[in-house]
Amino acid sequence: MGKSVEKVLFLSLLIIFIIFSTSPALAAVSALIAKDSNGELYQFDYKLLLNSYALSLLDSPDGLYSSFVEKEAYAFLTENGRYISYRGVLDNYALAIVSNGNFDLEKYLLNKEAELAAMPGNIKKVSINSGNIVYTPINLEEGAAGKPDNPDTGVKKPINEPGENHNTGNTSKTYVMVDVNILNLRSGPGTNHEIIDQLSFGAILEVTDEQKEWLKVITMDSKSGWVHGDFVKKADLKSKDALRGKVIVVDPGHGGVDPGAIGFSGLQEKVVTLAVGQNLESLLQGAGASVIMTRTGDQSVSNTKRVEIANKARADLFVSIHANAFTSPDANGTETYYYENNENSAASKFLAQAIQGEFLSTLGLRDRGVKEKNFFVLTNSEMPAVLVEMAFLTNQKEEELLRDAKTQKILAEALFRGIESYFLSYR
Ligand SMILES: [Zn+2]
Repeated sequence: MGKSVEKVLFLSLLIIFIIFSTSPALAAVSALIAKDSNGELYQFDYKLLLNSYALSLLDSPDGLYSSFVEKEAYAFLTENGRYISYRGVLDNYALAIVSNGNFDLEKYLLNKEAELAAMPGNIKKVSINSGNIVYTPINLEEGAAGKPDNPDTGVKKPINEPGENHNTGNTSKTYVMVDVNILNLRSGPGTNHEIIDQLSFGAILEVTDEQKEWLKVITMDSKSGWVHGDFVKKADLKSKDALRGKVIVVDPGHGGVDPGAIGFSGLQEKVVTLAVGQNLESLLQGAGASVIMTRTGDQSVSNTKRVEIANKARADLFVSIHANAFTSPDANGTETYYYENNENSAASKFLAQAIQGEFLSTLGLRDRGVKEKNFFVLTNSEMPAVLVEMAFLTNQKEEELLRDAKTQKILAEALFRGIESYFLSYR
């Protein structure tokens, strides 16, 4: 993951959920100070953050919490300028929401760290310059969340070179990609028009009209509306049917006599990889791809055979699905592998990054990174190939996730989107 991508992902995790009407006894809190993986500090509006967390608990028991732990959220800032520790607070607050119970904020007060001044509001980058605290507001005007490492969102970027939109002489369409975490889709060209939907980072839009800095667009699920041109970038797509006709080998790891890793309470890797693989198969087929499964049931398939299947089919991609294991139950997170020393290494790496990114933004487990390794199925396949270790079966919480049919579907969707963005944007 690039650092800036990781930062965007971190922010996007915080902005996923917007409104959660009433909150118990937290009126006194005004903001949260958090540090990202680069050590940069951000101040967030507390409601957004806490409500996201509470909602994520209801939805999946470990969703955002791990991201907070990873990214070192510091403290909550109260309106009277005091700080409370985040660790105890998050769980108890979420519990209070879930059980309609009471939440005693005062229990979590910290006595120090009051250096960072109180400033309620939206997201601000906090930095120290010659001993002074500097707040850089992140532009939230039209994208609900700005991109912190791209402070020039005020600069108007033309989406098309002059004339480009209409003189192509063929039926090629113009596509743009949402370049902020959340972007409002409005009923007309201006902020006075009603918000009809919110689009998330990476969403592909077809441009059908322009009015000053506003673009009329159609979303992939056929909603029509207007977005501000500053928050999208041109997507050079071959077509929105990027997957049509592609041959993709889906390789559910292990099977038959080889159970793969055995989970914390006995879940077998071969069961999970097949379930995710079958979900992925139907998503890819739905998008018009031809899918070849290296196994469709509980069969033993050698690695040689898996590669042979892919090479014989002259497949466009090889995607091997695995779940991880370690001697310590503490090991956790997602990692994606590719092989570096062949002609497809750049493509494989791009695919690995795209898939890893989707896993992080979807499940939010620990980012163990995109890694290079000479796994047999990666070194011997003659097309771009990746192997993803989705999560750790030997970790109790992650085993629960991997066992859950809903999560298996989410994992397949993450793989699908990674594959889709490979075909949309890799050249
Ligand atoms: Zn495996």
